[in-house]
Amino acid sequence: MTVMFHSTRGQSPAVDIRAATLAGLAPDGGLYVPVEWPQFTPMTIALMRGESYAQIAFRVLQVFMDGVIPDDILRDIIEKSYGVFDAPDVTSLVDVGNLKILELFHGPTLAFKDIALQFLGHVFEYFLRDATHTTTIIGATSGDTGSAAIAALANRKNIDVFILYPEKGPSDIQRKQMTCVAASNIHAIAIDGTFDDCQAMVKNLFANKNLRAEWNLSTVNSINMLRILAQLVYYFYAASRVDGVASFVVPTGNFGDIFAGYAAMKCGLPVRKLVVASNSNDILTRFFETGAMSPAPVQNTISPSMDIQISSNFERFLFDLCGQNATQLRGLMNDLKDKGSFSVAEEQKVQAQKIFAAGRADDAQTLETIKTTQQNNGYMFDPHTAVGVKVAQNLSANLMHPIICLATAHPAKFPETVHRAINITPPLPSKLAALMQQPERIYQTSTDINALIDFMKDHKK
Ligand SMILES: *Cc1c(COP(=O)(O)O)cnc(C)c1O
Repeated sequence: MTVMFHSTRGQSPAVDIRAATLAGLAPDGGLYVPVEWPQFTPMTIALMRGESYAQIAFRVLQVFMDGVIPDDILRDIIEKSYGVFDAPDVTSLVDVGNLKILELFHGPTLAFKDIALQFLGHVFEYFLRDATHTTTIIGATSGDTGSAAIAALANRKNIDVFILYPEKGPSDIQRKQMTCVAASNIHAIAIDGTFDDCQAMVKNLFANKNLRAEWNLSTVNSINMLRILAQLVYYFYAASRVDGVASFVVPTGNFGDIFAGYAAMKCGLPVRKLVVASNSNDILTRFFETGAMSPAPVQNTISPSMDIQISSNFERFLFDLCGQNATQLRGLMNDLKDKGSFSVAEEQKVQAQKIFAAGRADDAQTLETIKTTQQNNGYMFDPHTAVGVKVAQNLSANLMHPIICLATAHPAKFPETVHRAINITPPLPSKLAALMQQPERIYQTSTDINALIDFMKDHKK
């Protein structure tokens, strides 16, 4: 039976995964979630122990694509998406001290976002194979989504890509991964503002019904449900490689990655705890401690992909916390918009705490973690992964093993920070070294939405 998706805001019709993927955001401004999560039985999950990453990916994704993408084409898409990864089985699970590190960074741009976006690129191409007009993909990025989206979508037919990034956000490597790609359908635009500004501009464009229809607007941000689905796979994969029920520690920004863990749980995967790891932008950690969501000014940290205050995907979990009552959800989101914060009821907070734990690490602790791990274990973390590991260490007395920490980026993606911690510059994998020599193409606009619209009009195909 085809899995259907409805909006968290409850004011758009339910659609299949094709429509949910191409739309990105639901027409009522909400996020798509399955009407019902398909269930994987303990027997099916046990079979995954003997399967490769690609086999597990097919098993998990086929259920969501049934009736939309034929099985043989889905297999082929999975093969093409994950054939470009360097690890023998797409990801690697390695022991570092008494933690399990799930390396998700072996794709083309060295961050876990490749796992979802490589897949999404091929799925988009398949969905648009007979399109008579161009689809315009717009995305906000603090660095990694943009580079992964560009790597996945460069030169794809019928697709025009506009990626907004905060001018001062990304590392040199992240920026060059966006600006050195010569493909004519790619436009990476530096915005004179923060990541939250970029994300607000994307939402603003989507709210413009005329442009949305005229340009066939879509997005590859993690508000796109297809990305979440692709990320379910590695939770099933990692769980199949350890003994006992694991906790997952997830360096968190937009709440997409950890929401995929929650989704895997909803599909039947046994998980002990999902741990939100925050840097100094600890709004989510404060929520899980207090039940109040109250944004503070964004701080720039050495883990820039987590420098976020408004985590869009959190709405998906909040919807469940509201018992899928869209009216209640809309009330909370309106409070956030109008009053600047919201609080959930005590019993909702308790329910959230049953599933999630949370912790934070500041820049000094992040650097210290990179250093001590290099000294004690000879293993190098990128700063985002180090935030997760520090939180895992802080909470380890309360968590039972196995503890799986998601390694979200390769250390070479943040060489200055790693060097600051251990005096060693991690070597850049050869697949990136060549890109760094290419000339950059830099576009800029302000946070004024009309400036962006004009830019897009001038540059669209
Ligand atoms: C995007 C990103 C994160 C945060 O993931 P979310 O899905 O936004 O919570 C963490 N680490 C790295 C390296 C990232 O690129």
